Amino acid sequence: MKNLLSIVIPTYNEEKLIQNTVNTVVETMTLENIPFEIVFVDDGSFDSTWKIISQNTNTHPNIKAVKFSRNFGKESAIFAGLDFAKGDCCVVMDCDLQHPPKIVVEMYKLWLLNDFDIVEGRKSSRGKESFLNRFFANLFYKLLRATSGIDLENASDFKLMDRSVVDIIKAMPERQTFFRAMSSWVGYKVTKVYFEVPKRKDDRSRWSFKSLFKLAVNSITSYTTIPMQIVTIFGVTFFIFALAASVQTVYMKLAGKAVEGFTTVILLLLIIGSVIMFSLGIIGLYLSKIYEEIKSRPRYIVSETIGIKEGREDIGL
Ligand code: UDP
Ligand code: MG
Repeated sequence: MKNLLSIVIPTYNEEKLIQNTVNTVVETMTLENIPFEIVFVDDGSFDSTWKIISQNTNTHPNIKAVKFSRNFGKESAIFAGLDFAKGDCCVVMDCDLQHPPKIVVEMYKLWLLNDFDIVEGRKSSRGKESFLNRFFANLFYKLLRATSGIDLENASDFKLMDRSVVDIIKAMPERQTFFRAMSSWVGYKVTKVYFEVPKRKDDRSRWSFKSLFKLAVNSITSYTTIPMQIVTIFGVTFFIFALAASVQTVYMKLAGKAVEGFTTVILLLLIIGSVIMFSLGIIGLYLSKIYEEIKSRPRYIVSETIGIKEGREDIGL
């Protein structure tokens, strides 16, 4: 089939919402006459998500499904979906309809008629969130843009990509992925569509502050090594500072006022100590990333599939 659209949907414990999502997506695509397939990736749900998905694969032959052996996280689920998708273009969307299917139609048309390779969904507003969340999100986007040149402000995982882009992203060897940044790093002919984020029906987001912080650190360390260079700058600055302080201390000693220098010593100890620890921490961060990558573990492990025809290895290598 030409111009086939693959809709990749990562799902984790979505038993309450998933049926409505299937109905809405199928209805929207059928109405618009878009040839499509849905690739569900069940990210190790422990509720009846998988059961509902398999029931749907019986009624809709163009729904495929992949089940992970455990929860590997949304990133892995996205990549598994892209690995199993056969479409000429693929769109990644959330299961909670916070990425509206109407916008998928708009993205598809931009791809089909205007030849765009990537159509990014950008949130027109960030919706309601706490001051702290907004503050850290802004800080993260600014840091990432300043250090790696990637602009992710209001970006989301909601994105349509041409087959050529999908193949390139799939072939990238890193194990710790950050889909949002990877798909903007590749370049190509890109356009944006803006969408309002509707409220989640069950009003629950699975991202805790801790997991968001981890994601932020991970993506910054994946895209820039500038923090490591900052360590060197710190080193040089404090060396100059230390030289000046030594001159002062020696002068004090010669002038017979040595006891006063005690403050300087303590200050230096504190500052240098903390800079060293901070620097070691940054180096540790990068080292642990190298360690993770070098292990080359698969991105995910599939325990079950439905409707996947051609044989392929069932791990994300
Ligand atoms: N999700 C997943 N694995 C996880 C957590 C979430 O596949 O470990 C899926 C989830 O089912 C949903 C999407 O990722 O389809 C976005 O999740 P959620 O709505 O909780 O996040 P938010 O909208 O707050 O980004
Ligand atoms: Mg959501």
